[in-house]
Amino acid sequence: MNTRRKLIAGNWKMHGSHSANAELLAGIVAARPFACDVAVCPPFPYLSETAVTLAGSELRWGAQDCSMHKQGAYTGEVSAGMLAEFGCRYVIVGHSERRALHAESDQVVAEKAQAALGAGVTPIVCVGETLAQREAGETAAVVKRQLSVVIHTLAHCASEMVVAYEPVWAIGTGLSATPQQAQEVHQLLRAQLLAATPHAARMKILYGGSVKADNSGPLFAQPDIDGALVGGASLKAADFVAICRAAG
Ligand code: PEP
Repeated sequence: MNTRRKLIAGNWKMHGSHSANAELLAGIVAARPFACDVAVCPPFPYLSETAVTLAGSELRWGAQDCSMHKQGAYTGEVSAGMLAEFGCRYVIVGHSERRALHAESDQVVAEKAQAALGAGVTPIVCVGETLAQREAGETAAVVKRQLSVVIHTLAHCASEMVVAYEPVWAIGTGLSATPQQAQEVHQLLRAQLLAATPHAARMKILYGGSVKADNSGPLFAQPDIDGALVGGASLKAADFVAICRAAG
């Protein structure tokens, strides 16, 4: 266990409705306070009601993506500046679903992270290898390449991001990386950050990939794991709260 305050962020993906969100948020609010930082990342249309529900609490909210552009003719996109107006503290960038389904390159991810920081929103930058890449022994090379583009683009601001290691083969599959497998990659990422910024020791590196209440404790006990980005298990208050408790 390290001394960095842990962060648990729920990635709701494209799930939710007015009524489902109200129930989920009420369950999380009722479980306060937490001994870790807690954030929820609902779909864009629900940011406003989430902001209203969580205003005045220490709970934070974020978005699941942002544009790399400030404004303009980019139909369907949402700028980081708009997210900041909704009080977003975080924005997830480079999630593997966006890399795979929307062909987002490392450079696009890096520019989204830069746009987020420019608007005062903390990017949660996702990196991770596919199963084929892991089996080919390419895990280290893949995550280092993904992170290096972001570090290079953010330059002296790199220490302001949160990094999330999310092995693609563990997302939504029920197959979590073992604590040792995750720690091995987190250690690599920490070393890469240390080489780039004097502030790396205080930076948060989250793990994501089928995190549940019953597998989170051993993950959070690893020296370089500073919390979790949680997908499926963030949709039920009891499950999400149990993970937040495990982090405290
Ligand atoms: C995610 O989508 O970021 C994620 C980690 O999903 P899950 O927890 O469902 O694997």
